[in-house]
Amino acid sequence: MAFTLPALPYPTNALEPHIDARTMEIHHGKHHNAYVTNLNNAIAGKPEESLSIEEICKNISKYPVAVRNNGGGHYNHSLFWTLMAPNAGGAPTGALADAINAAFGNFEEFKTKFNAAAVGRFGSGWAWLIKDSAGKLVISSTPNQDNPLMDIAEVKGKPVLGLDVWEHAYYLHYQNRRPDYCSAWWNLVNWNEAAKRFAS
Ligand code: MN
Repeated sequence: MAFTLPALPYPTNALEPHIDARTMEIHHGKHHNAYVTNLNNAIAGKPEESLSIEEICKNISKYPVAVRNNGGGHYNHSLFWTLMAPNAGGAPTGALADAINAAFGNFEEFKTKFNAAAVGRFGSGWAWLIKDSAGKLVISSTPNQDNPLMDIAEVKGKPVLGLDVWEHAYYLHYQNRRPDYCSAWWNLVNWNEAAKRFAS
């Protein structure tokens, strides 16, 4: 069973002005699509074809680098689209808000620390809020298309939030201003989806 490109849960212009339609068209239709195509090519005829993308990520050290890069790319982007929404942003509520306050002091401190991880990631990669095996929230970042599910990740856990800081995610609109993109992204965060991921 080959992997497929999931449809965006909103139109490509729905995240404007924070993320422009052209960036979304290229990011989803070209970049994510290429990860799916290249992942399928890398696992064609192999047992991995019957695994979920989560199962592949959890044992990524067993597979060739093409599976790590493109499988990670597919998992990360599939998650990323669902963690944004038009007319979203604001602040988390309920159990997730309580856990953020417990782990980081308060919501503003959390955002400052998450932004530091996102802006400080050298080159291409991702910033994450993850739930670790003890159920505690932790901020981390990964290079390239690695993610915290992977057995090779420095900090492992289940992603609650993920922010793509590859230049392809922001360069058309923000050019080199990654900090501006990271700040604007908070206007798009789908806290309902993040809360569901935290609770599960
Ligand atoms: Mn990307």
